[in-house]
Amino acid sequence: MAKAKRTKAPSASQVDRLPDATASTSGEALGLSPFPGGSEEQGKNTISTRLVSRMRESILRGELPPGSKINLDRARKTFDVSLSPMREALARLTSVGLVELHDNRGYTVAPVSLSNLREITQLRAEFECLALGIAMQNGDLAWESDITRSLHRLNRTHREASDAKSLEAWEDAHRDFHLTLIQGCDMPILLSFCMTLHNLNDRYRRIFLARTGGDTSVELEHSQIAQGAVARDREYALDRLREHILRTGRNLQNALSDDRADAILTRSQPARRRRPPAASQS
Ligand SMILES: [Zn+2]
Repeated sequence: MAKAKRTKAPSASQVDRLPDATASTSGEALGLSPFPGGSEEQGKNTISTRLVSRMRESILRGELPPGSKINLDRARKTFDVSLSPMREALARLTSVGLVELHDNRGYTVAPVSLSNLREITQLRAEFECLALGIAMQNGDLAWESDITRSLHRLNRTHREASDAKSLEAWEDAHRDFHLTLIQGCDMPILLSFCMTLHNLNDRYRRIFLARTGGDTSVELEHSQIAQGAVARDREYALDRLREHILRTGRNLQNALSDDRADAILTRSQPARRRRPPAASQS
């Protein structure tokens, strides 16, 4: 029997616009048209989509600081849009965990914390390994080729701590690689979870690790994961992916324990006293 057609891997630019990518997988798969109302609705949707992308980048870069209140009127003027697309963009960013809506305080940028990072790391390890395991069963030759292509692109993309553009390019290639690995699972809801978690994780890396530049271990780790996946060596590939996620997660947790992170964490949790980080992570 012919195998069902694999969901096409989103391009790096599609993935970079997370809410759009989510709509293009889970939304369409669930029969939810992103443009229900014709050309006028399409126009509004385009504005909202661009706005989501711009606001998302501002949050990931820390320009909209963790925990900060989003004043609707000020934000609308800053991004030069009317209230309607601003409300829609905020709703979409809330749905992917980057913005929070509070009964009395309105919208705030989602805070960052050690416990939140630990949860994201643990969930990534579980869901990405689940997705990769299924992808290794379902993935076809095109999936294998996509993995090789995205690994090559990632390994050829060099980043410098002092060069914001190179950091952006690396993050883009890195996201593309991880999502290409799991794309072959052909499960839109699972992929949507993984994309959300990956973006939440990216935010920590961008805020707390931008100053430190490259991690020399990741190139080898990515190559090993890709080799295992293409060779359909399930145990090896899943072990390498889990270790990669947990190790890089520990690096981020250590960065959060750095004194220089205090200002961000304090601003992120104004109502609570921050607990000291755990002495070690297993
Ligand atoms: Zn990675």
